[in-house]
Amino acid sequence: MKRVAILGGGPAGAFAAAQLSSAGLDTIVFDEKLAWEKPCGGGLTYKAYHQYPFLVNNSTPKKTVTETILAAPRVGAVTLHLRNPIVIYSRFDLNRLLLERAERAGARIEKARVTEMTRCNGGWQLKTKSGALDADYCIVATGARNALRDVGTQLTQGDIMSALGYYVPGDRGQIDIQFLPKLQGYIWVFPRCGHLSVGICGKGEPAASLRKRLEAYMVEREISWKNAAFYSHVLPSLETPAWKRNRVSGDGWMAVGDAAGLVDPITGEGLYYAIRSADLAAKALLSEISGLAGQAYRRMLRRDFTADLELGSRLAKRIFFGRFLFGNVPARMVHFTRSSPKFANIMQDLFAGTQPYLGLKRRLIENLNGSLLEIAMNVSLSRLLPGRVQA
Ligand SMILES: Cc1cc2nc3c(=O)[nH]c(=O)nc-3n(C[C@H](O)[C@H](O)[C@H](O)COP(=O)(O)OP(=O)(O)OC[C@H]3O[C@@H](n4cnc5c(N)ncnc54)[C@H](O)[C@@H]3O)c2cc1C
Repeated sequence: MKRVAILGGGPAGAFAAAQLSSAGLDTIVFDEKLAWEKPCGGGLTYKAYHQYPFLVNNSTPKKTVTETILAAPRVGAVTLHLRNPIVIYSRFDLNRLLLERAERAGARIEKARVTEMTRCNGGWQLKTKSGALDADYCIVATGARNALRDVGTQLTQGDIMSALGYYVPGDRGQIDIQFLPKLQGYIWVFPRCGHLSVGICGKGEPAASLRKRLEAYMVEREISWKNAAFYSHVLPSLETPAWKRNRVSGDGWMAVGDAAGLVDPITGEGLYYAIRSADLAAKALLSEISGLAGQAYRRMLRRDFTADLELGSRLAKRIFFGRFLFGNVPARMVHFTRSSPKFANIMQDLFAGTQPYLGLKRRLIENLNGSLLEIAMNVSLSRLLPGRVQA
């Protein structure tokens, strides 16, 4: 392998570049924008920074949040004191951190949009506005709006979630998550250094209607969007059949991050999967002869997390629209978190990313009796001692 070209320098591309160039490969990253404020919450779970400690051990500005307020219609809200905080970056800062890391490892970084990639003589010829470059292998990290049609996930309308919001000047100590009626998605308020990222994501609903829902919430919470920058983007949110046919690698290329559809279909978490998939792609490329790297990568992804995300895609509708014990699931989630320490523990692990969807059902069933008992005791106690029982 002489030269690897990485198309896209977001978290996935920049991380792959750092891994490959530090192993001695000639690596070049093309990104049309380099570090930029990509529309995003910027939240990293414990799962991400525990596995990749450089994500917290650095001097880049970031906010560490230990409190999440979870709310759903008709049941109010509950505060979750996170054992494992969420770390929140502005995406400009996070992208810059990752690109600088890649550059220090020896990768060349070039500000250019790749407009065409052509397979020739067992390698690739890449075209940008300003010229052409030959490469032996390509890592496709062009994100959810990948315009290179022959590589990466083939997203259909059903495999996409819209996401939009405002960067609002201000500060606060906690994350807010609000579920809404009849929406496969949610509103978030993420505090960042110097501003808040207030946004909504939703599947199967037009962006204009999501924006209305978000603005109604902001009016109610007295969050003004005057002087706030608006953002919108799309998130891969693959349906179950799409996971089965997902095009993550091919002859001479592998796709990583959003370009490979690797986002949690329930939470929209994508940063961890961008970095993790880049890590696995680099490992596959470094350990296999290039003709077999794509297959090895596919197997690694399956073992590592795509089986879990595929299960997530099956659970998504049941979580947002399902009913349990005469209430809808988001409302029950808030109610149970408030009244059952056992259930709150499961929520803690879901927020930290340490409870996979595989095994979640079993854990919920094992804890159900205990949780219901705790809820019953909590209800009886609050009747006996009104005002004395804490959420
Ligand atoms: C509104 C919103 C909120 C989100 N919040 C969170 C969150 O809080 N936590 C979380 O974990 N995930 C979140 N996500 C998901 C997360 O943003 C993505 O999963 C993550 O950015 C994926 O990284 P990536 O490197 O694969 O792609 P991207 O970050 O999209 O990077 C792709 C890069 O490729 C470049 N590019 C594209 N095409 C070309 C080309 N032809 N030539 C050269 N360069 C090109 C772009 O300029 C870009 O820099 C959110 C997503 C959205 C839309």
